[in-house]
Amino acid sequence: MTAPVESPSIRRLADWDPTRLESLAQDYGSPLYVLDLERVRENYRRLESAFPDAEILYAVKANALGDVLETLREEGAGLECASAGEVERALAASESAAENGATGANVHYTAVNPPARDLEWVVDAWEEYPDLTITVGAEDTIDRLEERGYDGRLCLRVNPGIGAGHHEKVQTGAAAKFGVPAERAVDVLADAADRGFDVVGIHAHVGSGVSSDQLGDHREFVSRMGDLARDVSEALAGDGDGLEFVDVGGGFGVPYREEDQPLDLEAVGDATRDALGDVDAALTIEPGRYFVADAGVLLTAVNTVKEARDTLAVGVDAGMTTLLRPAMYDAYHPIRNLTAAIEAEQHGASDDERGRETVAQTIAGPICESGDVFCENRHLPVSERTDVLVIGNAGAYGYEMANQYNSRPRPASIVLEDGDVRLARRRETLEDVTRLEREARDSEPSANHETHAEHDTR
Ligand SMILES: *Cc1c(COP(=O)(O)O)cnc(C)c1O
Repeated sequence: MTAPVESPSIRRLADWDPTRLESLAQDYGSPLYVLDLERVRENYRRLESAFPDAEILYAVKANALGDVLETLREEGAGLECASAGEVERALAASESAAENGATGANVHYTAVNPPARDLEWVVDAWEEYPDLTITVGAEDTIDRLEERGYDGRLCLRVNPGIGAGHHEKVQTGAAAKFGVPAERAVDVLADAADRGFDVVGIHAHVGSGVSSDQLGDHREFVSRMGDLARDVSEALAGDGDGLEFVDVGGGFGVPYREEDQPLDLEAVGDATRDALGDVDAALTIEPGRYFVADAGVLLTAVNTVKEARDTLAVGVDAGMTTLLRPAMYDAYHPIRNLTAAIEAEQHGASDDERGRETVAQTIAGPICESGDVFCENRHLPVSERTDVLVIGNAGAYGYEMANQYNSRPRPASIVLEDGDVRLARRRETLEDVTRLEREARDSEPSANHETHAEHDTR
């Protein structure tokens, strides 16, 4: 689409303007997610230029905010969805993007143990959007689609038996839950084609966190996918148009630690093309994190500072319910004290450390769980009550994993675009937190009954 632009391959926390961020926290309150849509565009264009002939899908689950989906659709990305809710968002974003000139409705639904309600919703949507692709990871799912009258575009998720990723919880390639064993793929797809499905692709996603030093594993995985694609094409010869694409998933890593280097995208692109070999099908990739991680930060305010045994214990208003990754994956996120950085700037010091003493600090949220900690013994300028801190690389799997544990409302999200600031999603209130049960209590007993009867669990 647009000519590739020279953009830095990573935006570090120090690249965000402390004064601007602090004033956003003043204006919108904290905790607050901030997402820069220009950076999302830059990340898309960089990836597109490293994979010039690939079909690029955005894995919506990394950040499903409508503004992100519309931005990426406008850039030409398709959307890979993990649920009916994501498909609904993707179709809505595609319509908005179409009004701005984007074409095609390249939306994939990756059905992992899909609840009946999701299948019903997606099959209904398909009647209106016949270009929709459904990726299945079990023969059961094919049967369940057939029972619902679906004979549209079908892609098979295979389990390649290899995993990759920054943490065992994000390695999906070998987990029994995901996909059909690769050695069954040819039979399953030949059978699906016989039954009238429009077989269009094969898919695998080995995990999240593909890095430059795991390029060998990536190559091995992609080359297996290439072999499989050739086998499938041969088996399907004469049955329809053959395979349209080979989807090798996402998982492109981003550096979270200051010392980590960004992925060498050109090298990954070349290795992927090369390993896939000669196949008569398009290469498809579907990264999520890569587009949004460094486009977002989380702002949080310090409310408690106390001396603990070996560390300064600092309490902030964001917690594991706001940003779950540290508690769930032991993930590292860079943290900067904006107030201290601004003070240091005003005093003419060139770095944060000059203004305030640097000490080891444990920064924790308001949730009653010992895992509710953003960092332990991290060396930062001494925190003071009312300081605003920024947590970096929070654009991916940040708000998406936010929840209401401890009856805590979810934070607001704002977006930056063309120098403007816009509220993208308001902060939840205590009213929101209790709304569903109040509604249930207020509704008629008969209405209650109907909701119960609604489900069909096939
Ligand atoms: C999560 C997921 C992705 C994206 O993973 P990232 O690490 O965010 O790039 C892509 N495909 C599937 C099927 C996924 O589940």
